[in-house]
Amino acid sequence: MNHEQAYQVCINPDCRKQFGLEQIVFNCPDCGALLDVEYCWDRVAVPKALDFFEHRWSTKGLRAEARLDFSGIWRFRELLPFAPNDSIVTIGEGRTLLEENDLLAREIGMKPGRLFLQYEGLNPSGSFKDNGMTAAFTLARMVGRKRIACASTGNTSASMAMFAHKTDPPMQGIVFIGSGKIAYGKLSQALDYGALTLQIEGDFDACLRRVRQVADKLGIYLMNSVNPFRLEGQKAIMYRVLEARGWEVPDWIVVPGGNLGNCSAFGKAFTELKELGLIKRIPRLAVIVATGANTLYELFENKNLRWNGGRYDQSKVDNLYASMDASHYLPHTIASAIEISRPVNLPKSIRALDIMNGLVREVSDEEILEYKALIGRYGFGCEPASAATVAGLHRLMEEQIISPDEQVVCILTGHELKDPDATVKYHTGIDMKKITPPPAVTPTGRCSNPPKKVADDLEAICAALGETLPE
Ligand SMILES: *Cc1c(COP(=O)(O)O)cnc(C)c1O
Ligand SMILES: [Zn+2]
Repeated sequence: MNHEQAYQVCINPDCRKQFGLEQIVFNCPDCGALLDVEYCWDRVAVPKALDFFEHRWSTKGLRAEARLDFSGIWRFRELLPFAPNDSIVTIGEGRTLLEENDLLAREIGMKPGRLFLQYEGLNPSGSFKDNGMTAAFTLARMVGRKRIACASTGNTSASMAMFAHKTDPPMQGIVFIGSGKIAYGKLSQALDYGALTLQIEGDFDACLRRVRQVADKLGIYLMNSVNPFRLEGQKAIMYRVLEARGWEVPDWIVVPGGNLGNCSAFGKAFTELKELGLIKRIPRLAVIVATGANTLYELFENKNLRWNGGRYDQSKVDNLYASMDASHYLPHTIASAIEISRPVNLPKSIRALDIMNGLVREVSDEEILEYKALIGRYGFGCEPASAATVAGLHRLMEEQIISPDEQVVCILTGHELKDPDATVKYHTGIDMKKITPPPAVTPTGRCSNPPKKVADDLEAICAALGETLPE
C-alpha cells in the first residue's frame, strides 16, 4: 500500500485547501475549518465486494501482514489506505462483537431479531477509542512524533496511554484531565500505563483548549478526536457491524454523542462505501446526547442548524456559545464520557446527520441509569454514556419514529467496569465519590505514577512537562 494516495483536505466547500499527510494541522490555516483524510480511490486496490474482508480471518497471524488481519481496523486497510503496512501500530484492537439481543428488544417493545448491540467495551483498553487510536498512532509514527497528548474525560487517555508503549521506540503519553468528573476506572488506566497525567483546574472544554495550545507550542502530537486520523480508524466500527450482519445494512445506527467524532466517522464510512459501490443504501443515524450536555440537540433540533452543503449557519453556533459563556454554563451529566458542551466535531456531525438522514435526541441521567441497568441485566455491562443509546432508542419508539420491526444497532461505546461508581450508586444508593477521602499520602510503589496537579496556566503546564515556554 502506498501512502501517496492519501492527503488531508479542508471540509469547507469554499476552501478545500489540501495538505500532505506529514503536515500537522487540525484546523485549516486559511479558514479555520476541520480537515478530512481523503483518498485517490482510483489508485487503491479496493476489493469489489465487502465479503473480501471476511476472508482475512483465515490469514490472521502474529507476524508481519498477518498481524494486521488480527485487527478489526486494519483487516479493512484498503478502506483507510493512508499508511504503509510496516508503519501500522496495532495491539489487536477492534475484536469486538455484535449481539442480537431479543430479551432487551422485548423489554423495550421491539420485535425479535431487530435489536443489535455492538459491544465496543471488548477493546483492549475497554472502549471504542482504540479504533481511532491505532490509526492516529500509525500517523504519529509515520511523521516521527515522539510525544503525544490528549485532553480526556477518561477513555481517550486510557487508550492513548496503552498504545504509547506499543510503538517502537515507545512514545511519551501526556494526559490532561480536568478537575471535573472523571471515572476512576479510566484514570487508573492512564496511571497504570505510565502516562504523565496533569490535572488542570477547569472542565473538559477548558482542558481541550489548553492541550491544543501546549501541543502546538511544544510540538507534541494531539490525539483528541479533532485529529482526523482517529476518525479514519473509527469508520471500522461500521465495517464490523456490517460484517457481523452478513453485509446487510441495518435501518438505524444509534450512538451517543460527546465530542461527536464517532458519529462523524460513521457518516464518512457510509459515504465512502456508497461511493465505492460497496453498499446500496445508507442507514439512518440517531445521535443521543445527555440533557446536561446537549449542544448538538439544541443546535440541530431546536435551532435547526443544517449542514447545507458545508455552508452552515455559524452564527447559530456562535450565539449558543456566547449565551453559554454569559450564563457560565457548565455541562453536567452522570455520563462523564459525553459531558462536553463544545464538541469539536460539530460541523462533521451535522454533515453525518445530513448524509444519514439523522436526528438527535437528549436523555436524562435518570433514563441513562435505568437503561444501563437493563442493558446490564439482558445484554452487556456498559458505561453510562453507552446506555444513552438504548434510552434514546426507546424514546424514538415512543415517538413512533423507529418502528418495532426495524433493524437497529446500538453502539455500546465502553465497558461497564470503567465507571463502577455509577453502578454501585444506582444499585445501593451509596455515592462513593461523597465518601470522605482518606488523607493524602505519598505513594511508594516502584511504578507509582500519581497525577500532577497544575494550574490552568500555560507556563505552569510547560514547567510540569519539564520545559520552558518557547517565545
Ligand atoms: C468518547 C466516548 C463517547 C463519545 O464519543 P464521541 O466520539 O466523542 O462523540 C461516548 N461513550 C464513551 C464510552 C466514550 O468513551
Ligand atoms: Zn479551509
